[in-house]
Amino acid sequence: MRKPIIAIDGPSGVGKSTLSKLLARELGFVNLDTGAMYRAVALAAVQHGVDPDDDAALGRLAETVVVDFDRDAGTERVLLDGEDVSAAIRTPEISLLTSKVSACPAVREALVRRQRELGIRGGFVLEGRDIGTVVFPDAEVKFFLVASAAERGRRRFLELQAKGVAVDLAKTVAEVEARDAADSGRTHSPLRRAADAVAIDTTARGIDQVLAEMLQVVRSRQSAANSGKE
Ligand code: C5P
Repeated sequence: MRKPIIAIDGPSGVGKSTLSKLLARELGFVNLDTGAMYRAVALAAVQHGVDPDDDAALGRLAETVVVDFDRDAGTERVLLDGEDVSAAIRTPEISLLTSKVSACPAVREALVRRQRELGIRGGFVLEGRDIGTVVFPDAEVKFFLVASAAERGRRRFLELQAKGVAVDLAKTVAEVEARDAADSGRTHSPLRRAADAVAIDTTARGIDQVLAEMLQVVRSRQSAANSGKE
């Protein structure tokens, strides 16, 4: 029997990355961080001197670069054409540029195709902005995570600070809000909740609590699907 596809969407700082990794580990599934793919294309645009307003050139770049995930070392590494870019794709500058680059339809087309090729076998937890609406609209389980902008900005601030990046809290909150406005307001595949997604507010809840709720949803769907086959 084919394993399910689990879609996790929501704005930045809601806990998508942490929760999708933990959920994948609990279920024995593979986690796919689609945001890292968009980030890698944005970084490649900087490295190759591609104008972020040149949609055709961005599309060609997204078709040609190879983004891979090395999960062997315990912590996941993101590889862009073989080079470890795990840290380089997470700077505030690349975050903002990614929001711009990801609005380009040709970039989305190339990356969505790749995400579908990877996930179609099932047994995947994919996290992003358009997984439940565009990439896998028929995913067996969909979650849409939300949290207040102040809390999401605070989490991003602490994350960057822990990495030794010099950051300012008010500026980080403003950047998170600007990125969400761009992701929600774009024409192609804007961030929005799929009608059949389970919404979870992570603002005042610990990771363990949210993970337990997600696991419960997945398991009850799995048992409903199994009993339907009997
Ligand atoms: O999830 P993360 O914050 O790493 O995503 C970085 C950016 O990539 C988002 O702000 C968004 O612009 C873009 N993105 C997207 N569609 C996805 C995943 C990420 O447009 N499925």
